Amino acid sequence: MVLGLMGFFYIIKASFLVYFSIPTALIYVIGYYLISRERLYDYVRLVYFWISLYMGVTTVCLGYGYGFHLYSMSMIPIIFYSVYMGRSLKNTKSVNAIPASIAIVVIYLVCTLIPVFKGPIYSNDLGVDVIFWIVNSIIVFSFLIFYTNMLIKGISSSEDRYIKLAMEDKLTGLYNRHYMLDRLDELAEKDIDTKNKDIKDSSAEDDYYIAMLDIDDFKKINDVYGHNAGDFILKSVAEIMKSTCSDSLVCRWGGEEFLVLGYDKTIAAQQMEGLSEKVSREAFVFEENNISLTVTIGIADRNEADSIDKWIQAADIRLYEGKKSGKNRVVYH
Ligand code: GH3
Ligand code: MG
Ligand code: MG
Repeated sequence: MVLGLMGFFYIIKASFLVYFSIPTALIYVIGYYLISRERLYDYVRLVYFWISLYMGVTTVCLGYGYGFHLYSMSMIPIIFYSVYMGRSLKNTKSVNAIPASIAIVVIYLVCTLIPVFKGPIYSNDLGVDVIFWIVNSIIVFSFLIFYTNMLIKGISSSEDRYIKLAMEDKLTGLYNRHYMLDRLDELAEKDIDTKNKDIKDSSAEDDYYIAMLDIDDFKKINDVYGHNAGDFILKSVAEIMKSTCSDSLVCRWGGEEFLVLGYDKTIAAQQMEGLSEKVSREAFVFEENNISLTVTIGIADRNEADSIDKWIQAADIRLYEGKKSGKNRVVYH
């Protein structure tokens, strides 16, 4: 491209621009060197400086009819992106985006106004300025469209990643306690809403139940088979819960405790008995060790407690009762 432009400048006898093309070609070589040495900051500064200079010089020499000044618009997102990059690369040196952008605007205004008042340094009657204007416009706008699209896609995907991270338990892949508490709070708000509206139908919220599940003698598994075996058991139990309670919301409440939010209390006991049976029948194999285990579960219906805290507490108390009375059981009423 540089050589092509050089040829064009030669044809229109813009001798300064012909010579100016030599360092421009050199910039590519220096830029390649800087990138290969991972000196990204210097590379960005060099490109910033040279594009500004190139835009200014070509505009003063040829007038703004060629559209070289349009490149200033593409500089602004690049400057801001380089600040962002510098931050994630933990680079102590950083471009100051606002002054750098204002500088671009000033260069743009000065370089377009000089040929307006004094006329361009080189003029010709080839009539190709319109072609340059069109090509340069297409390049600049394509860049802006592509760049903005890429940026927004990047932001959306990292947002999705962080949302997922914030609501997920890392070990089991289940929802975490915070996510469950948020959902339970939402449920309570909905409950208050319907009560305020004085709608006294047997609304669906009353059908909800929660089940608190705790693995029996889990500490022993860690002690006998090691912490990795414990982790493996947690993941395996989580998988069983996911498949058994696929219509419910399952979370890792903490440690070896799990909380299930179910939507149909009429099948709560049956569903939890099934889950408990499935776990106790399963032969967990970790590094050639056959591990068997049982769980204790406490269930509480939504209409048994006013607040979310009390609701959880009710399930917890039943879980504790189950532990006291010999473990490996489901306690409902
Ligand atoms: P109980 O039958 O009364 O529930 O006894 P337990 O041994 O299951 O319960 P306890 O509260 O005494 O022990 C829970 C253990 O779970 C202690 C802790 O080290 C272990 N634990 C908690 N989180 C993790 C984890 O992420 N990985 C592993 N491997 N162990 C964990
Ligand atoms: Mg426990
Ligand atoms: Mg336990």
